[in-house]
Amino acid sequence: MNNQSITKEILNWYDNNKRILPWRKHLTKKQKQYFTLVSEIMLQQTQVKTVIPYFNNFIKKVPNLSALARINDRKLMKCWEGLGYYSRARNLKKTAQKIIKEFNGNLPDNIEQLKSLPGIGDYTSTAIMAIAFNKQFIPLDGNVERILKRVFFLKTKKEISKDNLHKKKSFFGKSNRPSDYAQAIMEIGALICKPLNPVCYECPISKNCKAFKKKDFDIKSKNKFNKVKYFEADIYKNKNKFLLIKNNKFNFLKNLLIFPMREINQRKFKSSLNKRINIKMSNMDMKITINKKNKKKYLSNSFFLDKDNIKNHILPSFTKKIFKSVLKY
Ligand code: SF4
Repeated sequence: MNNQSITKEILNWYDNNKRILPWRKHLTKKQKQYFTLVSEIMLQQTQVKTVIPYFNNFIKKVPNLSALARINDRKLMKCWEGLGYYSRARNLKKTAQKIIKEFNGNLPDNIEQLKSLPGIGDYTSTAIMAIAFNKQFIPLDGNVERILKRVFFLKTKKEISKDNLHKKKSFFGKSNRPSDYAQAIMEIGALICKPLNPVCYECPISKNCKAFKKKDFDIKSKNKFNKVKYFEADIYKNKNKFLLIKNNKFNFLKNLLIFPMREINQRKFKSSLNKRINIKMSNMDMKITINKKNKKKYLSNSFFLDKDNIKNHILPSFTKKIFKSVLKY
């Protein structure tokens, strides 16, 4: 198939198979830009099916850019609670403020200006250009990377480098519906060219796919092993209440409520007889020993939270996980 028929086949597949998603509704231009911005930031670290209810709730509470620029931080965090990676929410608000101040309230349709906004990098700026502004861009997300690695049977480190993958995007050619086209390619990656068991018999580009011909769907990726870090968390309990502090010590979960904790070395962690839990963060695997303390303690920026009152507080999933494990302990 040549580029033109590849484009036609992909769009044809998309028109018949795309998922109905809240940010794909029929929208005004302004809404399209705002919905794309919010959804793309939410999708940065999170899967579509998890994002949908958060997105719907967010749009209900914060319907446009000016509401986002004005929202108070507590309400913002409440809307984001449970979605994780809270810096995304803080950056989203800063982005809205910057757009209002520097771009007259309009999301810029220029890649460099988009990249100047907090929390918007290479991928998100390209996605916004394609999806919100209908420009000829194909964002290189994990889905698109996987398709290219399989279509061209890319295996070596050099072959799977970002530079080479960007070059290989020319395979897709150009379309007269760039917004749909970018979403169509990503959708094929998400629904058809899945990491395990790709559904090749439904794939519109199987005739051009080397992995399909060779029946070898193994994907090579640059090893991304998270660093393991060790921590000790102190659990101070007073009747039904637990001591939490506002985190201004660690770079992760900044300003959110956590149990008092400190980083320790592996030897100390291994010698501890306390209960242990593992929590995966975006950039590290945390191994935590739970250190139950009997004495009451008051620290600055801290307070005792009633376990029955957890719902009324903005707690990161991280703290909720420790809570859950402490309550069972
Ligand atoms: S034919 Fe199969 S492996 Fe190749 S791109 Fe399509 S789904 Fe992926």
